[in-house]
Amino acid sequence: MIDIHCHILPSVDDGAKHMTESMEMARAAFSEGITKIVATPHHNNGQYYNTREEILEKVQELNERLVKEGIDITILPGQESRISGELLEQYERNELLTMNDGDKYLFIELPSSQVPLYTEKIIYDIQMKGLTPIIVHPERNAELIDNPEKLYQLVKKGACTQVTAASVAGKFGKKIKKFSLDLIDANLTHFVASDAHNLKGRNFQMAEAFSVIEKECGLDAKYLLLENAELLVEGSMIMKEIPERIKKKKKLFGIL
Ligand code: FE
Repeated sequence: MIDIHCHILPSVDDGAKHMTESMEMARAAFSEGITKIVATPHHNNGQYYNTREEILEKVQELNERLVKEGIDITILPGQESRISGELLEQYERNELLTMNDGDKYLFIELPSSQVPLYTEKIIYDIQMKGLTPIIVHPERNAELIDNPEKLYQLVKKGACTQVTAASVAGKFGKKIKKFSLDLIDANLTHFVASDAHNLKGRNFQMAEAFSVIEKECGLDAKYLLLENAELLVEGSMIMKEIPERIKKKKKLFGIL
């Protein structure tokens, strides 16, 4: 299993605090059946700034340490870039790190409360550069929860999305769990990843998430999500089904 979103790099953001914690996270990931992890530190989110060069160097250090400790996990480079009007300029300046440095897929983080007005334009511009944008954890964005039509439109226009394993497992509450499963059923998400920050409140839960997905969405959905992570790190075309609108259940007033 490949985890494509994880804050395992030590002391670069609000993820692993030091190398010892990174090693503990790697051991926990391995015990869940994870063999490759894309390290995706926060970038330009108002608190943390981690450019391509810095991340590449730190990923190498972490891999060397994993070999020394005998932990059979490979770390691949990635970045969780916060959306901004200057995203394309940052890409031109070589500050952004695409997934596994393959120049094919770019992680995009929206602010948690809303979807900026320029999002659609940026999603378009990124694709004009030959990159596929992947919107991370749309199921935790307040505006998208209220208005899933907005996400449907972004996916229809070429964006991919990644749902958090803990959301599927129910750790962010029932509403977010249901929304996550609705996104899978409506082909509005293409990846499930841990977004693990530590082993306490924000751990992996990948195995648990996939057992929920198998039960609630079926085996085909599970295998598509698992395989897409492999295709992504290889820089291959991922599998996509036609996006659908989330069906709202009609409220049956007056019927008992
Ligand atoms: Fe993250």
